[in-house]
Amino acid sequence: MDVVELLPRLHLLRFPVGQAYLWRDADELTLVDAGPPGSGRTIADTVRALGHAPETVRRVVLTHFHEDHAGGAAEFAALSGAEVLAHAADAAVLRRRVPAPPPVLEDWERPLHTAALRQLPQGDFARPPEITEVADGDVLDFGDGARVIHVPGHTHGSIALHLPRHRVLFTGDTIAASPVDGAVMPGVFNLDRTLVLTALQRLAALDTDVACFGHGDPVTQRASTVLREAADKYRAPR
Ligand SMILES: [Zn+2]
Ligand SMILES: [Zn+2]
Repeated sequence: MDVVELLPRLHLLRFPVGQAYLWRDADELTLVDAGPPGSGRTIADTVRALGHAPETVRRVVLTHFHEDHAGGAAEFAALSGAEVLAHAADAAVLRRRVPAPPPVLEDWERPLHTAALRQLPQGDFARPPEITEVADGDVLDFGDGARVIHVPGHTHGSIALHLPRHRVLFTGDTIAASPVDGAVMPGVFNLDRTLVLTALQRLAALDTDVACFGHGDPVTQRASTVLREAADKYRAPR
């Protein structure tokens, strides 16, 4: 796993598949997503290497239920005591109350999806015993007020997190950067691509400097401008 400092308060954790982010406030840390199954210990080691005890990570906010984001949450929560938060719709999947809805793949996504699955551990993964549900408009107690934005489409319970005071946006898999050229694009492997395109418009309207995606290099300057260009390119069909 690679660790990249994006801002003095913000690190990117890049796994073989998927990315998580570590945000630092004065005396506590917040993890946004938790990597694929098996990542819990690696994340704890990373937190220590950055000079903090894993117990200082107070919460893990999951952008959605997919295993490359939620897979390490139970392991890391067990090691750190962190609270795990997710939107109710995806919390229900993580609690196994409803089956995980499979993505509705576009033809061009099929080979990509097969290749991505090959890189992830097979079978089920440990689920967090407790999940705190969050909803659109909630303001979480990190980053001087982190606003939850419910952006269904990639999954029913996908959320983004906006830190207005710091002009930072976490998009989950609603937005991605291309592994080929870094171009900002709607996420892939969605339940409803039209809703994802609508969500892209909504997130591009925010004032941000830094945009952190579930996959691909973050945008670290003038993120609003970059997202608006992408939103113009991928306007939802009317
Ligand atoms: Zn993902
Ligand atoms: Zn996903």
